[in-house]
Amino acid sequence: MLTVNAYAATSATEPLAPTTIERRDLGPDDVLIDIRFSGICHSDIHTARSEWGPARYPIVVGHEIAGVVREVGSAVTKFAVGDRVGVGCLVDSCRECDNCRKGLEQYCRNGSTGTYGGVGRDGEPTQGGYSQAIVVTEDFVLRIPDGIELDAAAPLLCAGITTYSPLRHWNAGPGRRVAVIGMGGLGHMAVKLAHAMGAEVTVLSQSLKKREDGLRLGADHYYATSDEDTFTTLAGSFDLIINTVSATLDMDAYLRLLAVDGTLVNVGAPEKPLSVHAFSLIPARRSFAGSNIGGIAETQEMLDFCAEHGLGAEIEVIPAEKINEAYERVLASDVRYRFVIDASTF
Ligand SMILES: [Zn+2]
Ligand SMILES: [Zn+2]
Repeated sequence: MLTVNAYAATSATEPLAPTTIERRDLGPDDVLIDIRFSGICHSDIHTARSEWGPARYPIVVGHEIAGVVREVGSAVTKFAVGDRVGVGCLVDSCRECDNCRKGLEQYCRNGSTGTYGGVGRDGEPTQGGYSQAIVVTEDFVLRIPDGIELDAAAPLLCAGITTYSPLRHWNAGPGRRVAVIGMGGLGHMAVKLAHAMGAEVTVLSQSLKKREDGLRLGADHYYATSDEDTFTTLAGSFDLIINTVSATLDMDAYLRLLAVDGTLVNVGAPEKPLSVHAFSLIPARRSFAGSNIGGIAETQEMLDFCAEHGLGAEIEVIPAEKINEAYERVLASDVRYRFVIDASTF
């Protein structure tokens, strides 16, 4: 076993604090990764604070991991020492169900294993990326192409794939009008990716505060949703809307912005149920949908796409001691656009 430094939540209310955790011995198909950078995702905060059900403390969160291979197991074929690699939200799945066989490990019928808060092969709770190193079976390790810096790559492993997958599934591309609700960690990646795919991109944000950023990152249009006129001006104008906001929004108002056959996809997860009027869907054959991260093959495709198009996340790198402060800033939407922890400071 390998003892590594980490930052853990010890209760729903205490700040995260330095600790050490054990990583399992390298199995034949395992990869030991020296973590260089770890992104801060809103899910980390929900989990650390038991907002999505009781967490098992102490818990080390973090599922936007970028690093370098330190050691490989005897049967590993895909990776070698020194390779630049990433780990996202999943570290295993059953691999046998129909969804896993289709490369949809995120929809595994038997429950995929989360990078934190799950149960690993050793029977121990999985602990995530706010640490110096991690051991992951090679099938759930991603290759980070040379074209992307490791710090800017880390958030791609959750924020990137969470937006890439629905954009691809619902055919964002030339001639398609895509709107992105929210200009945060997920939203800014959705803008970059949809633009790179060739779609016409509109940001729907509460205010115009981040308008210049939005246009710089690839948006063609930028509207404030606090302005009632936005909803009349844009009625019936989008083929696809990606909702990245986890607050409860008036879904009917947004559904009316869809053209015939348009789809509104939720990737943000509000705590309370969203209500939808059937007549927001029926008159234009609209769809109301959801999407969860992406499978392993698709995550690799996303990383390769980002390298090809020179895309990474917009980040602010922080030392580990600033994690608790960063959490407060994430909750206050005071980050442009993702915090990434420098793992050398754990
Ligand atoms: Zn995440
Ligand atoms: Zn499965």
